[in-house]
Amino acid sequence: YNVPDAINEPVLSYAPGTKEREQVLATFKEMYNSTVDVPLYIGKEEIRTGKTKTINPPFDHKKTVGTYHEAEKEHVEKAISTALEARKAWASMKWEQRASIFLKAADLIAGPYRAKINAATMIAQAKTVHQAEIDAACEFIDFLRFNVEYMTQLYAEQPVSSDGIWNRMEHRPLEGFIYAITPFNFTAIAGNLPSSAALMGNVVVWKPSPHQMYSANVVMEVFKLAGLPDGVINMVSGDAAMISDIVFENPDFAGIHYTGSTAVFNAIWSKIGQNMGKGIYKTYPRIVGETGGKDFVIAHPSSNPEQVATALARGAFEFQGQKCSAASRAYIPKSIWGAVKDKLTKDVASMKMGSPEDLSNFLSSVIHEGSFDKLAKYIDNAKGAKDAEIIIGGNYDKSVGYFVDATVIETTNPHYETMETELFGPVLTVYVYEDEKWDETLELVDSTSPYALTGAVFSQDRYAIEQATKALENCAGNFYINDKPTGAVVGQQPFGGARLSGTNDKAGSILNLLRWVSPRTIKETF
Ligand code: GLU
Repeated sequence: YNVPDAINEPVLSYAPGTKEREQVLATFKEMYNSTVDVPLYIGKEEIRTGKTKTINPPFDHKKTVGTYHEAEKEHVEKAISTALEARKAWASMKWEQRASIFLKAADLIAGPYRAKINAATMIAQAKTVHQAEIDAACEFIDFLRFNVEYMTQLYAEQPVSSDGIWNRMEHRPLEGFIYAITPFNFTAIAGNLPSSAALMGNVVVWKPSPHQMYSANVVMEVFKLAGLPDGVINMVSGDAAMISDIVFENPDFAGIHYTGSTAVFNAIWSKIGQNMGKGIYKTYPRIVGETGGKDFVIAHPSSNPEQVATALARGAFEFQGQKCSAASRAYIPKSIWGAVKDKLTKDVASMKMGSPEDLSNFLSSVIHEGSFDKLAKYIDNAKGAKDAEIIIGGNYDKSVGYFVDATVIETTNPHYETMETELFGPVLTVYVYEDEKWDETLELVDSTSPYALTGAVFSQDRYAIEQATKALENCAGNFYINDKPTGAVVGQQPFGGARLSGTNDKAGSILNLLRWVSPRTIKETF
């Protein structure tokens, strides 16, 4: 199969004097000083229901940059029937035509839409330009291009034939429609979850996070401009329980592509199970989810303290720690803790926080008031705790935006609440262990990992690395040696977690695409 080579999109620098810097700042300003009215996209229609919510940048929450419209029951039903109608032509369209649409979408983002999708992500999700660039531009582009290549690999895999017998395999789209639910934290995920299923010939009802509607709107605009036929991806927003109930009660529901919290995924799974029990579905729905994490960094006494500190600062605090993959608990041996702490607190102290419009800021606000309040509560608890102390950070202020300091808590208790609870914010907890307790500490990490998304080990000692790799084999779907546990790159580190972190169907890999096809084996005898 001849498709353009998938090559990772280069990350632009946004350094002073660059064209991209000028463009993104101008676009940010223009968007910030106007408003958008985000409709539901159902088929060729843009539906404005009149039931609206405002869109407020989390770093400046009194400001309004737009509104989005919420669906009523009838709109969700319409989105489903429109998708099923569109399926008739889409499912049998030649793969090259489908691929072209998404390759064109990638080119639009790489070129004319780069500034807009980055600025939208900066405004709606409070990402710095660098975090927006690696997400909304590069990762999104990579998902689109690599998925096309993986699709051809999947199609190329064929069974063996023999004299007089020709065996072949067809990768049909699933019979029905796919439901995609995307989280606020990555515009790339917003783009990938509906588009990977659609690329394989499926039709989709997509519900973005309410805190992502502003950038989701740009994703939709790009897909449309790239020539995506009406009804293939339908975007709805509104009451999540109402939308999900209607979707899960539909007999044509064929699969869910989800990224979000473990609690919601558990509820989804159980709902689908109950409905399966009632016999309402035509097929076993595919359930694909990437959920929570409580990602660890464990350093061996042989590790380089500077390297550990840098990885912690970046892994815990980039994008305010709002990544499922963020380093949120660390296990550091006593012998190097002094050096790690020195560098870590210096790095954190130098992180500027504020509006993403000031490109020198490393941090911005967290996503919303609920998240802010939760983080403030855990920070306050640490202030009063006997077995924990805040070594840097600890302030928060929501008067203008939902700003929470990058905060490091040191604890003497490996079960301290912030060692075990996923906070999804800029809080890192460090447990300092006695050097000779390396073996026990590995066991401790394993036994306190109900999640298994990402994790990292630091060491200069190959035996220690081997030991950790084995001891922690079930604790992380993405395991990093001497590197931070965030920032997986499509095509390089297929991403996903096990245990309660999800079904581990590796976003941006052939494994993920496999979930969106129903293969038919054909044997023909001559
Ligand atoms: N893929 C991202 C990373 O490696 C995390 C995605 C997420 O937060 O869901 O950092």
